[in-house]
Order: sequence, then C-alpha cells, then structure tokens
Amino acid sequence: MAVVVQKYGGSSVGNIEKIKKVAETVVKRKRAGDDLVIVVSAMGDTTDELIEMANQITDTPDKREMDALLSTGEMISCALLAIAIQSLGEEAISYTAYQIGIKTSGQYGKSLIYDIDNKKIKKSLNEGKIVIVAGFQGVNEEGDITTLGRGGSDTSAVAIAVKLKGSCEIYTDVDGIYSVDPRKYKNAKKLDEIDYEEMLELSSLGAQVMHSRSIELGQKYGIPIYVGLSNSDIKGTVIKEVANKMNMESKPITGLATSDDDVAITIRDIDNDINLLSDIFESVAKKRINIDMISQTAPMNNKVNISFTLPKADLKEALDIIEKFYSGKDKLFIDEDITKFSIVGIGMKTTSGVAARVFKVFKLNKIEVKMITTSEIRITCAIKQEDKQKAIELIATEFNL
Ligand code: ADP
Ligand code: ASP
Ligand code: MG
Repeated sequence: MAVVVQKYGGSSVGNIEKIKKVAETVVKRKRAGDDLVIVVSAMGDTTDELIEMANQITDTPDKREMDALLSTGEMISCALLAIAIQSLGEEAISYTAYQIGIKTSGQYGKSLIYDIDNKKIKKSLNEGKIVIVAGFQGVNEEGDITTLGRGGSDTSAVAIAVKLKGSCEIYTDVDGIYSVDPRKYKNAKKLDEIDYEEMLELSSLGAQVMHSRSIELGQKYGIPIYVGLSNSDIKGTVIKEVANKMNMESKPITGLATSDDDVAITIRDIDNDINLLSDIFESVAKKRINIDMISQTAPMNNKVNISFTLPKADLKEALDIIEKFYSGKDKLFIDEDITKFSIVGIGMKTTSGVAARVFKVFKLNKIEVKMITTSEIRITCAIKQEDKQKAIELIATEFNL
C-alpha cells in the first residue's frame, strides 16, 4: 500500500482546535486507504518563544542546550496529535527522532539528516497505526539531540518519504507556492508546478515556505513534493522535475524572493593580496559560516575594499575571526540595512537582457544596488531595506509575476 508522508506546519497545529482539525483530516485519509506518516512542527510560535526564553538568560546560549530546548516544541505537538487521532477511534503512535533513529551529522542548529532507521515506522504502519513524527530534530553520533535549522520539519518529512519510498505532502497556511510571497505582494500568482532547481534557489534566497534542504533531498531522490493548504481540497503546487522546460523558458522569471537576514561586511583599504583574502575566507569557512555575495573594488595603490554578505545570526562569530586580521572603525564597516532581492527563472538560461531590464527599472526608480551576484537561473541584488517593497512591486509588474 502507498505510504503517504504528510507534514503540518506550526500554524496548522497552532492550538488544540487546530490539532483536532488536523486529526480529523488525517483520519479521513487513513479511512480512504492510505498508510500515513505525519510529521509535525511545534505549535504556533513555540520555537520563537523558546528562543526568547533562553535569550532572557544570555545572548550567547550554548548551542547543544539550545537544540535540546528547541526540540521540545515538536515533541508536544506530536504527542497531542497522536492523542487527538486516538480519540477519533484510530490507532496512532508518536515518535521522537531518538525513538526512530533519525541520525544527523554536522553542527547543532543546522545539522543534516544522513539516515533514518525505518524499522519501527514500518512495524507500526503494518500494525495499522498512523505514525506521528516530531519534525525538525535528529540525534548525532554522540547521541545528542540536534535540530535541522529553522523551518527544518519540511526536511524531516521529505527525508522520511525518501526512506519509505512514499509520496510527500507539505501542508501549511498558504494554498501553494506563489511567484512572490503573497504576504509581501497581494497580486502574486499561484504556480501549478515549479522545478526543483527554481524552488531551491527561491527557498535559499528567502522564500521560507519551504526549507531549502528539503528541496535538495526531493531533487536528489526524485520525490515530488506537493505543497497545499491544511485541511482543504484547494489544488496546491507540485515541486518536481518539470519535464517540459520549453514552456518555462517562454517566461524568463518564475519567482521573486527577498531576505533581510543578511549583513554586509566591508573591509577597507586592504592590501590586494590573494593570500590574505584566502586566509580570511578560509577561517570563516572553517566555522561553517556561509559567505554569499562578494564584491571588490579595483586596486588603487595596490589597496582594495572588499565587501561580502553573511547571515546576521553568524555576525558575531564572523567578526571574532575577521577582527584577528583587521579591526577598527576605519577598517571594518558593518551594513545591517540590506535586503537581498532575487529573481529566479529557468527561462533566464535562454533569454538575454533580463539583468538590463531589472537595472533599468531600478535606475528609473532610484533604487540603489549595493552588490550583485548571479547564477544561470537567478540574479540577486543587495538593496536598501527601505526600497524593498517598491522593488517587489516594480519587478513583479515588469515580469508579470
Ligand atoms: P509552516 O509553519 O507551515 O512551515 P511557514 O511560515 O514556514 O509555514 O511557510 C509558509 C509561509 O511562507 C506563508 O505564509 C507565506 O507567507 C510564506 N512564503 C514565502 N514565500 C512564499 C511563496 N513564494 N509562496 C507561498 N508562500 C510563501
Ligand atoms: N519549529 C521549527 C521552526 O519554527 C521547525 C519548523 O517549523 O519546521 O523553525
Ligand atoms: Mg516552514
């Protein structure tokens, strides 16, 4: 029988009434004949509230203990959903990552799933039970609980679907993937389908509707991911390898995403020496801090300014490293007022002049571009946060998003 892995996000299990509603939907589906594994996120804003509690004690809580703390949110919703399903007369069993061997590697707070011991899940399914799994968590080689990064329950669901060779459905508070976050642009259009490549770019660049690692896994193992509204029959979006890419190419841009989560660091007036740059970047990379956009001025008297962006959350750690090489207000400049503004589309591979259109719109509307990076299917500009909304509306109109 087909195994269906469904995931319900935080807002879908935000209170007891909502958990009961999800239980009804799940029981109906089970009675229609599917074997179900349900992955849940923590209720509502629980994860934010837990972070806030730790921050009331210190700005720099220990990462291992933070993972121990944050993983508790999903344990609550997972047990409550099992109770709600049982109360409707179906058998259900909840599992934490430890109980079903979701093995992770890498750092606390952003660990990666490398295997799942699916024996218990299969046994419970064979006994006719609905299996409920706590998302967002895993257990590392030391036996410690780790988390997968914010929004990581999507990845738990896709990883379980991969392991069980099942299908994967992500249920959330929006009825599919839109060309632009509908909260930021009300005329955004819903997409019937979107290619893994495009969704991966969008989710890495700020479209928090999906955890980007979940898309990587879906793409690697060829699992289509359905995204839809919880407890509803409205047709959502399928993330998959889109066969007819020619159709996609008829439109240069599929979607737009923005992120305010990065900060730009500029090091001024440093020797134009590749060994030095390599040393700085290597030290930062050793801490697994992801440097994204990079730009450098032309050398003057063999001196350059170099700017790069990295996640705000990693700023303190990055500065500790960089200040070993350079320090002082005249050398180091931190710009927290940036929005990373990205447009994405496979059609860009075959359409020329997309960047020219973007820059023309920005020029005519006095939107300053601080940094630029591109790939074959995307253009990202760092702009001022105050220009974000204007840029979204202008570019969405320009490309009919
Ligand atoms: P969940 O708690 O269910 O995981 P998230 O808050 O992580 O939900 O993701 C859903 C939200 O993602 C939506 O409410 C929407 O505002 C936002 N979002 C961002 N970009 C997009 C997009 N391109 N299409 C749809 N939703 C998007
Ligand atoms: N509860 C976690 C978070 O808020 C994981 C998730 O929602 O997917 O980030
Ligand atoms: Mg999410």
